Order: sequence, then C-alpha cells, then structure tokens
Amino acid sequence: MRVLMAQPRGFCAGVVRAIQIVERSLEKFGAPVYVRHEIVHNRHVVERLERMGAVFVEDLQEIPDGAVTIFSAHGVAQSIIDEAISRGLPVLDATCPLVSKVHAQGKRYVTRGRTLILIGHAGHPEVEGTMGQVGAPVHLVSSVEDVARLELPDNAAVAYVTQTTLSVDDTRGVITALEARFSDLEGPDVSDICYATQHRQSAVRELCETVDLLLVVGSSNSSNSNRLREIGVEQGVPSYLIADGSELDPAWLDGVQAVGLTAGASAPEELVLNVIESLRRHSDVEVEQMDGVREDIEFRLPPELRTPAPRKAVASSGR
Ligand code: SF4
Repeated sequence: MRVLMAQPRGFCAGVVRAIQIVERSLEKFGAPVYVRHEIVHNRHVVERLERMGAVFVEDLQEIPDGAVTIFSAHGVAQSIIDEAISRGLPVLDATCPLVSKVHAQGKRYVTRGRTLILIGHAGHPEVEGTMGQVGAPVHLVSSVEDVARLELPDNAAVAYVTQTTLSVDDTRGVITALEARFSDLEGPDVSDICYATQHRQSAVRELCETVDLLLVVGSSNSSNSNRLREIGVEQGVPSYLIADGSELDPAWLDGVQAVGLTAGASAPEELVLNVIESLRRHSDVEVEQMDGVREDIEFRLPPELRTPAPRKAVASSGR
C-alpha cells in the first residue's frame, strides 16, 4: 500500500510560536504557568505541556493572583484582556499574529464607520475573540443563507473579515453573496488569508486526486483539521479524522491501494509517524512525500521570551 504524505502538513508558524511561549515561560518563570483555553486544539500537545507544569483553564477566575497567564493562539476578547489587567496578572499573549491582524482589520473598518460582518463558525474561540475585540456589534455569518438573513439595509456601509481557519476557497461563496447583496462592501485582500490554512487545503485537494482514502491527523475540536477532512469528502474520497494511530480502523483499508495522509495545523509530526506505524501493522507500506510548498515562515516570540532570563523573573502585564 502506498502512503502519500501531504506537503505541507501539520504545525504552522502560529502554533509553533504558541507552544514555544508556554515552554519558554515554564523555563523562565517555573511551573505552574496558567493558559487560558487549550494553547492549540490538540490533546497530545496540551497533555505534554500539562506534564511540564502548564495548567489549562477556561476562566481567568481559576488563575491565582500574580500567576503567569498565557492567552491561547486563538486570541481573546478585549473584556478578557481588561479583566487580566484589572487583576494585575502578568500576561503573555500567544495569539497568532495572523489572528491579531484580523482583529486590527476589523477595528479599522469599524473606526471608518462600517458595520462589520465576520465569516466564521459560532462558538469557536477565535470567533468569540474577534467579536469581542472589535468594540462594536459584529454580524456573524457562516453560509450564503446567513447572508440573506442579515438584518441590515442593502445600501449599508459594511465590511467583512474571516476566521483564519477558513480559506479563500471556503469563503468564496459567502463573499460572492455579500457582494451581490451589499452595494457598499469592503473586505480584505486575498493576501490577508492565513497562508497555512490555504497551503494545507490546497495540498489535500491535490492529494485526493491520487488516493483512495484520506487520513487527517488532528483533534476533533480542531477547526482546520475538520475542514481538511471535509475537503476529502467533497473530493469524493472516504476521509477520517484521527487523533493518532490508535484510532485507525483496519476496515477502512479494505481494497485501498493508496492512502493520503495529512495533519491539521495543531497536530505534531510525531502523531503522523505514529499513524504510519499503525498502518504498517496492517499492510506493507511504502511512504512517499508529495511535492508541495516548503514553508519557512516564523513569528517572533514576545520580547520577554526572546532572550534567556533568570528563573522566576516577572513577566510584563498586558499584550
Ligand atoms: Fe495562525 Fe494560520 Fe496557524 Fe491559525 S492556522 S495559528 S491563523 S498561522
């Protein structure tokens, strides 16, 4: 059986940076450090950091006074930042710079007097963060039908931004519906879409042209991993999202000659290798690497963590 690995796959620069922020904080300030929400949506990553001394909470109330506090890669609402500041919590912000860019863009549109529309999925922490950053009511849409239901006059001055884990291709239909309905609409340039989401989705589309089965490594609460699986289904390939090799069902392999393997932006490469090991238990496997984009993007760490410092030094407040 051939196993064709997608290129690129797995960790993006925002996830690498977020994990490094937790690791370096533990080195520099000592355990425990508190992280609001899963730093990235991957259970294996979270459990490894827990073993190192990170404590994951959903509410700042669970964080003791003075404890080092880290915001997850998904970003947070302004009210959370305000709460952290009012409590004097020393904060390190692991919000992905591309998410922060969406926040800034949304604020700019609102400052210019436009009503903001966010294309995204209700309940996702990134969406909650963006809606809570803008400082004005935000209309959330996730489908063409939602656009028709918007209670706004067709000549309103509106603008849209998108959740980063939706690609240009995902949002195209919704944007077309917005353009058809609103005469005064602004939106971001295509270059503002998250590079990692776009690259991973394009690679999966290409992969699906040559495989009979798609395996996506990622956690069930990872938005971008779910989207990769959905793309496989849209391409007509049986597709499964698995956390690691233990979730591989041998029945999926019946009659399969070529398996496509990819990983969401929050899934470590060791889990991809674990899936290959699991495949080897059921079949002779020949692994091939797909040609694809080589990513070399890196995001800088917060200044407090760029240089080594004595343990137990105090992190600065704010973002
Ligand atoms: Fe940032 Fe994109 Fe990675 Fe999300 S998927 S953390 S927006 S680089």
